[in-house]
Amino acid sequence: MSESKVTAESEVVDICRDLIRIDTSNYGDGSGPGERAAAEYVAEQLAEFGVEPQIFESAKGRASTVVRIEGEDRSRPGLLIHGHTDVVPANAADWTYDPFSGEVADGCVWGRGAVDMKDMDAMTLAVIRDRLRTGRKPPRDIVLAFLADEEAGGTYGARYLVDKHPDLFEGVTEGIGEVGGFSFTVNKDVRLYLIETAEKGMHWMRLTVEGRAGHGSMENNDNAITELCEAVARLGRHTFPLRITKTVRAFLDELSDALGVELDPENMDETLRVLGGIAKMIGTTLRNTAQPTMLGAGYKVNVIPGQATAHVDGRFLPGYEDEFLADLDRILGPRVKRESLHSDKAIETGFDGALVEAMQSALRAEDPIARAVPYCLSGGTDAKSFQDLGIRCFGFAPLQLPPELDFAGMFHGVDERVPVEGLKFGVRVLDRFIDAS
Ligand SMILES: [Zn+2]
Repeated sequence: MSESKVTAESEVVDICRDLIRIDTSNYGDGSGPGERAAAEYVAEQLAEFGVEPQIFESAKGRASTVVRIEGEDRSRPGLLIHGHTDVVPANAADWTYDPFSGEVADGCVWGRGAVDMKDMDAMTLAVIRDRLRTGRKPPRDIVLAFLADEEAGGTYGARYLVDKHPDLFEGVTEGIGEVGGFSFTVNKDVRLYLIETAEKGMHWMRLTVEGRAGHGSMENNDNAITELCEAVARLGRHTFPLRITKTVRAFLDELSDALGVELDPENMDETLRVLGGIAKMIGTTLRNTAQPTMLGAGYKVNVIPGQATAHVDGRFLPGYEDEFLADLDRILGPRVKRESLHSDKAIETGFDGALVEAMQSALRAEDPIARAVPYCLSGGTDAKSFQDLGIRCFGFAPLQLPPELDFAGMFHGVDERVPVEGLKFGVRVLDRFIDAS
């Protein structure tokens, strides 16, 4: 009798490919077609084993799936595992393989969402399906949430559920989700796994300067475009002061220890060089940043407009929001009106406690040279919404990566892909983590 046994490891790749083939592009305007299909797919995968997932639609097609898996000890606080099912759009012409085909090539699953974050969605589904199939209850209740709309701020996904259905998360005190748990190989003796314990906050802003409108041929010393451009250029060229938060301090200490060298926070260029590809994730967690991203003014070449606008993507470190806003106003000057279009808080938690130990031990069991370290994410995730329910969130989507893969460049990048072996490693770690949680 040759019956191949279905396991989490044996089906994680297929589930990841299935998810990638559901185009869940989020254009930010509600036009994405696929979140409902993804929510139904996820629900079917779980319902097969007798649990009853619920689908919540916040607006037409903007669907999220939530289910509670009963644990051994139901009196213990619950654990949240959350993932978003939407992805940023992809321009197929730029890609080696169609971004929604879920191609497997060169040892990787290719496609939009392969690392952000259908990989973790698939790992979670594969592990929970396996536990349900084999009757292995988690030690405590687990709430699984597969969410819409993360890529546009989560209004129709995590934010909606937290505001309208907080009862789903009753008794849940801790959670894991993106962006963390991936490896950075330092040398043959140490592989760091970066666990996200902090996230920068954001202010998406519109800047406006009002000037004097008039004919383009005539004298005008109050040109809104000129005034605005000077302010935007000042801001764009500004380097905000170095601010080492407790998370970044802990990360640098661990890195310094692993490398066996003293790291000088005042000379971060050298430190960042050591980090290679992930430098672009770490570099911007050393200070606040404000990047001009859009400009608008005028309607005819010989008319001086009365108004000019710019948009700026501002990001601040935990604890430095007030300083950031004060710096902005000083740099921009009194002529510029600054409005916040969308803002969200920074979050930070300590790298300690039983759940952190569960991550450490699960990683160590699968990789003897693993060392979990905390880090701060330069962007934001749905964790910000769950923090409002008092849930202590970590970025832990375990992946072992080959050193040569530009992992940071995969996020929202062309030819996004995840190693097959990385996914299999991930499900083994996740399963152990659940046992230890
Ligand atoms: Zn993501």
